[in-house]
Amino acid sequence: MSTQFPVPQASEAPLTDSFGRVARKLRISVTDRCNFRCGFCMPSAPLWLGANELLTFEEITRVTRILGSMGVTKVRLSGGEPLLRPALEELVSSVTRIPAISEVGLTTNGMFLAKQVRKLAGAGLSEVTVSLHSLKPERYDAITGTKGAFETVLAGLDSAKDAGLRTKVNCVVTRGCNEDEICDFARLAYEGGLTVRFIEYMPFDGAKPWNSTLVVSGEEIISKIRSAFELEGGERAPGSTATNFRFRGKREGGVSTITSITKPFCSDCDRIRLKANGMIVPCLFSNSEFDIRSGLRSGESDERIAQSVRRAFNLKFAGVESLIRSGAALRNIRPMHVIGG
Ligand code: SAM
Ligand code: SF4
Repeated sequence: MSTQFPVPQASEAPLTDSFGRVARKLRISVTDRCNFRCGFCMPSAPLWLGANELLTFEEITRVTRILGSMGVTKVRLSGGEPLLRPALEELVSSVTRIPAISEVGLTTNGMFLAKQVRKLAGAGLSEVTVSLHSLKPERYDAITGTKGAFETVLAGLDSAKDAGLRTKVNCVVTRGCNEDEICDFARLAYEGGLTVRFIEYMPFDGAKPWNSTLVVSGEEIISKIRSAFELEGGERAPGSTATNFRFRGKREGGVSTITSITKPFCSDCDRIRLKANGMIVPCLFSNSEFDIRSGLRSGESDERIAQSVRRAFNLKFAGVESLIRSGAALRNIRPMHVIGG
């Protein structure tokens, strides 16, 4: 793999959509495959991409470098399960060496984390988010479609902390399933000095059919936590999905809510997504996507690829707020595992 990257062209204008939003963060799905079967994410009979449909690490690195030259500074690797992609540390290493990129994070189900974390940290990974939707082993298995994975995932979470990585937990809250554990998760954050991010259940085409009554709002989540802990803060940084709270008197650890449904943040969204098959997805909540893989594989110049990305990003739709305002049904959006969360 090449280790030489051209210096980004300062003349490249920022990547801006038709609403004036500027892309600063790139989410990369490195695979659509997963060893888990979370019903809110994956249909019961998923269709997998073929091996030659996946972008190679060299292709992903090239796209990231091009996006870096247009103002993207932060990258998150996701999937499917990103740690199923062999030698992921090689991609981390080549992406962290792009001068414009200041941070590379990873979102994982944690199953293979303990085995790989040292290599990932050594390659320059900045942060790991482990998804954990229950602290009760049997319920955890039921949510994720696994058997006995819980302890391994907890060990993975610990291994990331031991490796000195910033570590967070993602917990998707669904009514009637795990909302009774909200305070237990807050205790995990309080005692473990880590951040637990509670995510509102979003409407993707998973085996578990979405409807609005299953959504537990960020407001309800925080009010439950306040019954047991004193919280401070409640700010959301521009471009961030998370509204962050601290525990009074504690320097470390906190809880966040990601209120994509009840209080969407599309108006200052600064994300662009790259699917594992080389499709640019300007918005999680729309079905539009734009092919750049054929350009990458037919010898197009960086400039031509950049133009294709600009055209795609310019078509980024207003966001979930506009769907809700128009009364449109929130359904039939692709399964989450193909986009990259
Ligand atoms: N497999 C990895 C994992 O589970 O962390 C990474 C991919 S997963 C698609 C990325 C994130 O999306 C996870 O935190 C997952 O819990 C979240 N997610 C999946 N489906 C969701 C849904 N319908 N609503 C909200 N979050 C969802
Ligand atoms: Fe796999 Fe993550 Fe989707 Fe669960 S949420 S099925 S772990 S990709």
